[in-house]
Amino acid sequence: MARITFLGATGCVTGSKYLVEADGKRLLVDCGLFQGNKELRLRNWDRLPEDPAQFDWVVLTHAHLDHTGYLPRLVRNGFRGPIFANPATRELCGILLPDSARLQEEDAAHAEEGGYSKHKPPLPLYTEEEAQAALDRFQEMPRTGPFTISPQFSVRQHDAGHILGSASLELTITENGSSTVVLFSGDLGRYDQPILKDPEPPPRADFLLCESTYGDRDHPTDSPFDALTEVISRVTKRGGMIVIPAFAVGRTQTLMYVLRQLEDAQRIPHLPVYIDSPMAISVTDLYLRHHEDHDLQFSREESAGDPLNAHNVHLARTAEESKQLNNINTPCIIISASGMATGGRVLFHLVRRLPDPRNAVLLAGFQAEGTRGRALLEGAKILRIHGEDVLVRAEIIELRQFSAHAGRAEILRWLAGFPAPPRQTFLVHGEPAAASTLQAAIQSHFGWLVTLPVYLQSYDLNT
Ligand SMILES: [Zn+2]
Repeated sequence: MARITFLGATGCVTGSKYLVEADGKRLLVDCGLFQGNKELRLRNWDRLPEDPAQFDWVVLTHAHLDHTGYLPRLVRNGFRGPIFANPATRELCGILLPDSARLQEEDAAHAEEGGYSKHKPPLPLYTEEEAQAALDRFQEMPRTGPFTISPQFSVRQHDAGHILGSASLELTITENGSSTVVLFSGDLGRYDQPILKDPEPPPRADFLLCESTYGDRDHPTDSPFDALTEVISRVTKRGGMIVIPAFAVGRTQTLMYVLRQLEDAQRIPHLPVYIDSPMAISVTDLYLRHHEDHDLQFSREESAGDPLNAHNVHLARTAEESKQLNNINTPCIIISASGMATGGRVLFHLVRRLPDPRNAVLLAGFQAEGTRGRALLEGAKILRIHGEDVLVRAEIIELRQFSAHAGRAEILRWLAGFPAPPRQTFLVHGEPAAASTLQAAIQSHFGWLVTLPVYLQSYDLNT
């Protein structure tokens, strides 16, 4: 009998990992890092309840680290099978996983210098070499059409509209001559957004795993163009700088696209924008190579005008270039990882910029419980960074107009597209309040059976 075990993303928004077993074979769907509070982060150091050497395959919904960032650890702990990903996801992982390793190595080195780590000596969860070993196991699966993994498992992707390459995975499990379909929503994007396509309507499924990040909230409906214009003019008028915790790929392009449009419409000045990342890249080429994943209409020739870059963009690759950003005293925008301020170079910018009330920190992504980003949103007056207390005097701004996740009404709109009710729906990838609010909403809108799985719980997937 087929079974599914929830190895992450239960009661939290990180660590997505679902083990599906059928006919003695084991398929892991997503392999994410736990992020956020300490209890969650410590899970990254635990042994998995099942030996990764016994897993046969991994298949990915999209490249974000909370869905892929555990892969180097999985391979280090004995996984030897292929990791299936579509071309855009594979390419993004080629950027993200080594970058994640470098950030962890930089953080460990910095912790050793500062003497504030709990490990002695401080260790990175994995190294760049180990990230490379995981990348060597990647195999491309086509973006469309059915893809057969084995006699037991085949998958079909449906565009989830969340980032380049993001998909909901329709997994068909065949055992003893009968088939069961499990749909993994992956992270769901939004409708009518710039750049990315709308989430595709879901196919029929026996079982559904649905994300619930914003299951208890709708996003503001005002235009991201107006919201950003207002923030930029307010902050620059008082001579402040804007720090945006974000990774260099994904939401950053939506921000850049909107900035560019606003600049061209002369609604905002051409501010310097610094992308501060060890692997800072100009990603326009990435979007040119993956036309199938977005609805931007531009060709290589047109990209000379570069709709995905503000006019005055600078990339800071080295630690030295990053440090030099500390000397800037005129209005600018600094984009730097990590997106929830859990680590990485953005911490140095926060130390430098938070004490000045002219500045602003713009939070555009979901901020998980236990992260510095969440503390800022909740009005913390002091933030502990690198073992020191930093005064928070800068303005903290949440711009959920730029969220890459469906809000509550958008999740319900997607669910309304099911041709028939799934027999059982599991809500994952949401904090407890979000998941239980969405559970109640689904039950009252559709009358479905909705379950909130807990960590390491298994369910039979009866045919
Ligand atoms: Zn995601």
